[in-house]
Amino acid sequence: MSGVTMIINNLSVDDNTPACCWICLSEHGTLTSQCKCPASHTAHAECVAQWRFVRAGTEEERSCRFCSHAYTPLVDAFPHLERAQAPVMTLNVHGSKHAIPVVGGEWGRMLFEADVRRLYGLGDEEEVDISFSCVVPGTDMKVILSGWQCYDAAYMAAAIACAAGSKEDKVEEDKAGGAQQGGLLQRVMRTFFQSGDDQQLHNN
Ligand SMILES: [Zn+2]
Ligand SMILES: [Zn+2]
Repeated sequence: MSGVTMIINNLSVDDNTPACCWICLSEHGTLTSQCKCPASHTAHAECVAQWRFVRAGTEEERSCRFCSHAYTPLVDAFPHLERAQAPVMTLNVHGSKHAIPVVGGEWGRMLFEADVRRLYGLGDEEEVDISFSCVVPGTDMKVILSGWQCYDAAYMAAAIACAAGSKEDKVEEDKAGGAQQGGLLQRVMRTFFQSGDDQQLHNN
């Protein structure tokens, strides 16, 4: 029964099912696991980082969708980010562009919101819905991240764009969000990123 022995010796779990990235489904490149998932759930580090970016503001930004393992902060997932750079977000307010230097974290988000309120003439009691339009780091793909909980991801994209020296000049006019809820004003604004070198963006 030597044939049986041969079959048993060839039983190697993954031999016939090569691992592939669960995000891009490619088998090529270095597949890693940044969580507690089994080896069958590996992915490219870049794919995971971009996945998390697109899911900014949700649980999937912070933890693995399969095993719930908490990830390192998203900002650390992009090794090419040079945080010494001072990123800028561009607000389009009634046709005028305003370049606003931004910093990360909750404090940075509060400062940014204060700038937004000032530029739009919004009172403290008015609710502001914000959308960030940005390029997924490492790609040419543009996404809209909705909500203030996406600020850190948007900040990171701005910082990476700034570090890369990329120019993002395209600015679209705001489309009013419109929805009135509970008497609170809902406004949708789009924020665009570009490198920190542009000045004179305010054209009356
Ligand atoms: Zn991949
Ligand atoms: Zn996992």
